[in-house]
Amino acid sequence: MKIICDWKNCKEIGSYKAPVEKDNSKKFRLLCLEHIKIFNRSWNYFENMSNQEIEFFIKSDLTWHKSTKNFGSSENFFNILWNNALDDKLNIFKSSNFKEFKKTKISQTDKDALEVMELNDVAKWDEIHLKFKTLVKKYHPDKNQGNKKFEDKLKKITLAYSQLKKTLGKK
Ligand SMILES: [Zn+2]
Repeated sequence: MKIICDWKNCKEIGSYKAPVEKDNSKKFRLLCLEHIKIFNRSWNYFENMSNQEIEFFIKSDLTWHKSTKNFGSSENFFNILWNNALDDKLNIFKSSNFKEFKKTKISQTDKDALEVMELNDVAKWDEIHLKFKTLVKKYHPDKNQGNKKFEDKLKKITLAYSQLKKTLGKK
């Protein structure tokens, strides 16, 4: 039996998983290609979270350390973020979907994020995206026998990337 896309009034086949909530509950709904594109474009895990909440999220055993075991699991929000970035079959991350920095108007948060990603403050989206791919490959625990040091580094990089995506992504 085929599952119909969960988007309102859509009758297409739902073949793509979309997380229902941000609580790592691993609940998904299934969407068609058109609607997963819309969903992914607007989805930002850290949106509406304060720095403190993000910090808590990262430190939380519930959401992070337990799921470390399943680092390779596709049902993991960080993984969804990475998979979207690394394997962009839907072209969500193509550069035309992103703005460029205005040289004189880069916030301190974005400067910090660029620094974490070892980029200078005029990096264009293409460079950020490429650098992210490189860094994820370099620091992924699968490549480092689950070394915690690299995990922390990777978490920071993911947050930085998420921050830059939020700043440069066109609404
Ligand atoms: Zn649909």
